Amino acid sequence: NIPPIRGFTILLIGCLAIKLSLCFSSFPSSLKTLNVEGHFSFDNNEFAARDFGNRFQFLPSAVLHPKSVSDIATIIKHIWQKGPGSKLTVAARGHGHSLQGQAQAPQGVVVSMESLSGQEMKVHTGRFPYVDVSAGELWINILHECLKFGLAPKSWTDYLHLTVGGTLSNAGISGQAFRHGPQISNVHRLEVITGKGEVRICSEEQNADLFHGVLGGLGQFGIITRARISLEPAPKMVKWIRVLYSDFSTFSRDQENLISAENTFDYIEGLVMINKTGLINNWRSSFNPQDPVQASQFKSDGRTLFCLELTKNFNPLEADKIDQEIKRILSQLSYIPSTLFMSETSYVEFLERVHTAELKLRSKGLWDLPHPWLNLLVPKSKIQSFAEGVFGNILTDTNKGPVLVYPVNKSKWDNRTSTVLPEEDIFYLVAFLSQAVPFSTENDGLEPLLSLNKRILDYCEVAHLGVKQYLPYYTTQEEWRAHFGKQWEVFVRRKSAYDPLAILAPGQRVFQKAI
Ligand code: FAD
Repeated sequence: NIPPIRGFTILLIGCLAIKLSLCFSSFPSSLKTLNVEGHFSFDNNEFAARDFGNRFQFLPSAVLHPKSVSDIATIIKHIWQKGPGSKLTVAARGHGHSLQGQAQAPQGVVVSMESLSGQEMKVHTGRFPYVDVSAGELWINILHECLKFGLAPKSWTDYLHLTVGGTLSNAGISGQAFRHGPQISNVHRLEVITGKGEVRICSEEQNADLFHGVLGGLGQFGIITRARISLEPAPKMVKWIRVLYSDFSTFSRDQENLISAENTFDYIEGLVMINKTGLINNWRSSFNPQDPVQASQFKSDGRTLFCLELTKNFNPLEADKIDQEIKRILSQLSYIPSTLFMSETSYVEFLERVHTAELKLRSKGLWDLPHPWLNLLVPKSKIQSFAEGVFGNILTDTNKGPVLVYPVNKSKWDNRTSTVLPEEDIFYLVAFLSQAVPFSTENDGLEPLLSLNKRILDYCEVAHLGVKQYLPYYTTQEEWRAHFGKQWEVFVRRKSAYDPLAILAPGQRVFQKAI
């Protein structure tokens, strides 16, 4: 027997629960009436609530697996026409390699962009080659298709199992960016569906504001469905070089000289190594020391080391010429002489280097861990202070994952895009790519790594380093406003022009859908 008050409370809670569930489920069921070539899934959508960061899991109400661009336009238009009364939001999901739920849509609709990826890629040869691709295509597939024509995209990310739409919504930065700019500087044209469900072609000449807005736009102004990407002749092989420094200022001076020189390497990155154990042996076993005797005598003695990583592209017939060229450039650098390591590999193998590491980590169950990554863009004039404060003090080891540091030239970026950059002509990408051991309370657990990130961010703030986050993560609009600085007004204007109801990319947490 349930006492009357308790019975009434249970009844009330029950009614509320039914009302709530109706509120969340009635609208998605109206999606079932839409005429799409692909299909919706309403159950077993856990994959759409996961990402590489492995920290945020928000289930959508539905996942659209589109077969055509108009499938996506139909559903966005449907939600747009419902007006502010509907709660539904829409997130494009590329390969879901975001870090903090950016490709998720809590109780909204996730569009699985990879369902479109099978569409034909069209390579155009000629003096200015390019390829037209679906935005759900993985960069690795684009590489393989272009190689059939002896061509390849110019600018990469370190890892190629990411979609075109996913990287163009951020920037796409790697060791080629100093010369070619990021991936968003190597796109001629896009097809975009706005937050009103309109399909637009955009480029420098046509709908230029939308074109620039979408590039680096965190998915806020439209879903990119196709892209035209600039290509160049593909090299067959690369010489892959690593040298060590014990002094940050010498290391960064050499990096800056290299990215400013005419005749230089094709890829320039760098790594920080603090208290790494067994350094010279596990550092890169496939690399051959130039002088094995000297290299075997090299001891890090617990020093912080900086590893400059370089490649030079070549085709087998020109191997001798390239060796001479490499020798000439290396002779101008001030690395520790016994630490010159070199290897030779195919272009594809080099570009697939992180995937090779992925396969190894997966086999040990170490890929799907939480990844509290922190990516920063640090102006050149402040990189020394940054290094002193962070590498020399806050960070006590780099055993939780690689720490990358390399400069790029701002002149290769287009300041009309949405990406936010530091003020100076040269800035550094500093990437703390850690992975957390679940349930560990030691300093390799999630919480300690998150507080380490916070200490780094606090230090940058207090020291006024003018640092900007790349792949930014904020939770309040004040923080976003500060992040965008003087670009905020343009960002807000573009939002109200292209997605006034804030339907798109809710996982970025920049705007709340008005209801
Ligand atoms: P998702 O995670 O699926 O989506 C990212 C964001 O873009 C979401 O907000 C989503 O809604 C939106 N989005 C996705 N597709 C579209 C579309 N078609 N139109 C509009 N919006 C869309 N970045 C670098 O710059 N350089 C690197 O070297 C690099 N290396 C990485 C290595 C690894 C192992 C990982 C996991 C990430 C790396 N990244 C790097 C970061 C990566 O570029 C971004 O996380 C990128 O967004 C991932 O692409 P995705 O296809 O998984 O996108």
